Amino acid sequence: MAFDLSFTRAREWKSQDKDRVLVGHMPVYFPREIIHAANGLAVGILGGGDKKLIIKGDAYYQSYICHIPRSIIELALDKHFEGFDGFIFPSICDVIRNLSGMFQLLGEGKFVKYLDFPQNFKYHIGGTFYRHELQTVLDEVYKLNGVKVTTARLNHSIGLFNLNRHLINQLYDIRQEFPWRLTAADLYHVVRAGNVIPVEEHNEILSEVVQLIGEEIGDPMDKIRVLVIGAFCEQPPAGLIRTIKLAGCYIVEDDFLLGLKWIQGDIDTDSAEPLEAITKAYLDKSPLSSSVFDVGNTKEARLVDLIRHRKVDGVIFAAPSFCDPALLDHPILQKECNDKNIRFISFMYSENTGQFKVIKEQVGTFSDSIKLWDEPVLADSL
Ligand code: SF4
Repeated sequence: MAFDLSFTRAREWKSQDKDRVLVGHMPVYFPREIIHAANGLAVGILGGGDKKLIIKGDAYYQSYICHIPRSIIELALDKHFEGFDGFIFPSICDVIRNLSGMFQLLGEGKFVKYLDFPQNFKYHIGGTFYRHELQTVLDEVYKLNGVKVTTARLNHSIGLFNLNRHLINQLYDIRQEFPWRLTAADLYHVVRAGNVIPVEEHNEILSEVVQLIGEEIGDPMDKIRVLVIGAFCEQPPAGLIRTIKLAGCYIVEDDFLLGLKWIQGDIDTDSAEPLEAITKAYLDKSPLSSSVFDVGNTKEARLVDLIRHRKVDGVIFAAPSFCDPALLDHPILQKECNDKNIRFISFMYSENTGQFKVIKEQVGTFSDSIKLWDEPVLADSL
């Protein structure tokens, strides 16, 4: 399901009720609660990965940008999004902005919305703007199915997504202590499936996996603990995640699929103004990300907090090739690592990277050098 480019479960779900709608959205973050409350399914579109050969998509873009927009265009041209009613393009970079324009030109869906996230974090300015943006999305869906989003419906949906984030966090917390119980690649698949199925079903799957790894399974191995950062939009191929493990690392924190775990904590479920609650959560509870302006709470300080919290031995900066938001941040974050004596390496990938040998050698050397010669990065030394 995690890599189903035909979106089988989503289509099947929609076919069971004439008022249901499918709304595709790109990374990084979109508050899926609002679509759920409007009898819709927000479907995360993460590109074709290494499962789709790009032929036509390359013709739409210059060579010096990332890969994900090419594969999304290829998916659109090959009719993978048939049955989708609308598309949301959250603002993060010019590539996504241009992709939204291309979807409009191609006539994909019944609406295409470029969702401009505020970078002003004062409620009466950025908050008012963002809330208005969310209402615009709801208005578009209402035009399609006539379902009125009441306060009760929205609060119910918020509760389901609170639970979803809570379960994902539980998986990360258990894995932090016992990383051998669930591989990073398996965790990735389990979480990624949440992009393309109803949240109720994803919550059931997550609950089962939480229960499973609550018990002792597998054997600890002599690996270093790493944090992977930079992969919040175009996703690394699953083979690359496996390669990091094979090279001697337990991934105990990452920003893969960041949108699914975006809000740090719960959104209020008792609010008389649930859209306001969702807005405030974005303003006050967004994570460390290149797509968020960090007023008074710098990314480098947040990274160090995360390193301390997850007790990592080293950081892997892994960004998609030509990803401006990630690559502009990395020098700042790497300087902080240098200043704090935190070990790191850095490489780039593409969603369809097929050869991992060089990365395996690089990560393996990194892991060996920490295991053999380094003092552990102790929380106190940060
Ligand atoms: S990978 Fe980076 S540059 Fe490409 S669309 Fe995503 S955020 Fe933009």
